[in-house]
Amino acid sequence: MSKLRNDWTLDEVSEIYNRPVLELLYQAATVHRENNDPSEVQVCTLLSIKTGGCPEDCSYCPQAARYHTDVEVHRLLDVDEVMTKASIANQNGSTRFCMGAAWRNVRDNRDFDKVIDMVKGINEMGMEVCCTLGMITGSQAQRLKDAGLYAYNHNLDTSSDYYGEIITTREYSDRIETLEHVRNAGLTVCSGGIIGMGEKDEDRIAMLQTLSTMPKHPESVPVNALVPVPGTPLAEQPRVSVWEMVRMIATARILMPKSQVRLSAGRQEMPIVEQAMCFMAGASSIFAGEKLLTTPNPDIDQDKMMFDLLGLKPRVAFKNGQPTQQVKAEVQKT
Ligand code: SF4
Repeated sequence: MSKLRNDWTLDEVSEIYNRPVLELLYQAATVHRENNDPSEVQVCTLLSIKTGGCPEDCSYCPQAARYHTDVEVHRLLDVDEVMTKASIANQNGSTRFCMGAAWRNVRDNRDFDKVIDMVKGINEMGMEVCCTLGMITGSQAQRLKDAGLYAYNHNLDTSSDYYGEIITTREYSDRIETLEHVRNAGLTVCSGGIIGMGEKDEDRIAMLQTLSTMPKHPESVPVNALVPVPGTPLAEQPRVSVWEMVRMIATARILMPKSQVRLSAGRQEMPIVEQAMCFMAGASSIFAGEKLLTTPNPDIDQDKMMFDLLGLKPRVAFKNGQPTQQVKAEVQKT
């Protein structure tokens, strides 16, 4: 079993990333087998609980208020509605439920109180609860943790050098600061990025180095392929090839052997054979459900068929965590 390292140099990451792709794939598959059960894939459901109208200017995002996209704006959903959706996701085999709100940052208001109630309710269902709500302070992270939140998602998106080309309304250092608040509160970290935004290989390498040299590796590392959305500044970007996804996933797997590397946005466009290559490369997590926040995602039946075909099984909730007694009881039932 490879030792976890937090001191990867840019040269080392670059050397791994640039290996001949089949060799890289083989090595990543080996690391994956040494550290994880390769037949297990975490199935997460992502629900947009507050959509659109965001003041930020992330160039890839149809939810930014300043771009003219087809996104249907809606205010924060009611707690009951979210509970119903979480319960359906649970019945369909999801063990992690992620809630996304298009906010720049969390404010200590009634909407946040509602999110806290959602977190409590979903935690009681026995699922790992994750939120992605924008920037948060240390005390907000602690409040989420106390409510039963398991993970907080906050993507680096790209390298610090390229960040200003994609987003101008906040700094890379803001991202890092929120991730520190998340870590300090004892939450698990979900952080990754997007490829296909016009960045160079060096930017992908630098982002992977930043993630893999954090004091503790993020427990989840989403690797997204840009889904270009009409109306956003990146609408005309060409799609990335499967080989680029394989390269990113395999490098992430070698650098962070124990993390859940998530094949995220862009999966809708991938035939099963391409997704299978990503699983070989070490992807160990997917999003289920018809939508990924606002972009289409393969449907649940299609995924069940793929799992059967490839001999994959969903990972149970809280595999590495310390579930409460109540949660343990729920998990044993399933
Ligand atoms: S990615 Fe998040 S912060 Fe950026 S515009 Fe979209 S909703 Fe807002």
